[in-house]
Amino acid sequence: MFWSRKRVMAPVDIAPKLFDPLEAFPQKFPVAGTVALDRCPVCDSREIGCVWQLPQSRLGAPTYLNSPGAPFHDFYLDHLPLLKVPQQIFVFDMCRFCHSIFRNPKDDDHAGYQKDTSKVAAFKSQGTQPFAGVVNLCERHFPRHTRTVVDAACGAGQALALLRERQPSLNLFGLELSRPSVDFMQSMGLDAATVDLDLDDLDAVIPPDSVDFIIFYEAFEHVRKPVTVLKKLTRLLRHGGRLHFSAQYYGPQSSLQIRVGEPIYIDKRGLDWVVSQLDAVVHKVAINTKFRVTLEKR
Ligand SMILES: [Zn+2]
Repeated sequence: MFWSRKRVMAPVDIAPKLFDPLEAFPQKFPVAGTVALDRCPVCDSREIGCVWQLPQSRLGAPTYLNSPGAPFHDFYLDHLPLLKVPQQIFVFDMCRFCHSIFRNPKDDDHAGYQKDTSKVAAFKSQGTQPFAGVVNLCERHFPRHTRTVVDAACGAGQALALLRERQPSLNLFGLELSRPSVDFMQSMGLDAATVDLDLDDLDAVIPPDSVDFIIFYEAFEHVRKPVTVLKKLTRLLRHGGRLHFSAQYYGPQSSLQIRVGEPIYIDKRGLDWVVSQLDAVVHKVAINTKFRVTLEKR
């Protein structure tokens, strides 16, 4: 054989490009997203550059990879690159310092979330079952004598409803941007407040140093400044209190496809940097399709 799998290819010198097709043919290949970032959303570095340009079309029908035995068997696909036009191009940048990869431009998540009714609809159609896994995981990491649990970006309160069923003596509180979700939780007798985690002063809603456990699930990549939000949440924890969050992971242990609905991916370096910014230490990190991180406040 004239080639070897182990041979590392020398990087190719790419010839200078004479034009940018995305600028020249915006009707055929419109760039997705409305908010342009001039810095990394994780560490604020200005040293960012394009790493991926993905043509993606929404499939509009439930589609699963079929590859029995492979780690990605049965993974759900909602987009694929197709040859049809017009087709949106999703651009991702990478940060040279923290290695985060993020959509730029990204969608304005917040405008949609404030009136979002999809979480209430999901609760009504699927109940709390889809949250059983994360609630089990969190319960295992509750510090001793846990009484107060906050779910930040709690959706329609699925995790809180499950916890109330299992441990009726807990004080439970939900923070959520979607007004319809908060109305729905209150109608079920769950305590919740409408809060923008990025912009609002959380101390005014929940006293600092008072919470035993915080859940911040599937939200890291959807807030504007995940580290700022994590700092605010950590402040609410009492000494020895814990916070569990998930984040989209890229790295050698991933077999998941890029999903353009997830606007931020971090690797181990990014996670280490995030944790270094917080008044907390790692209690447990697992990679199970995404990062599942439990921190303990110093
Ligand atoms: Zn960065």
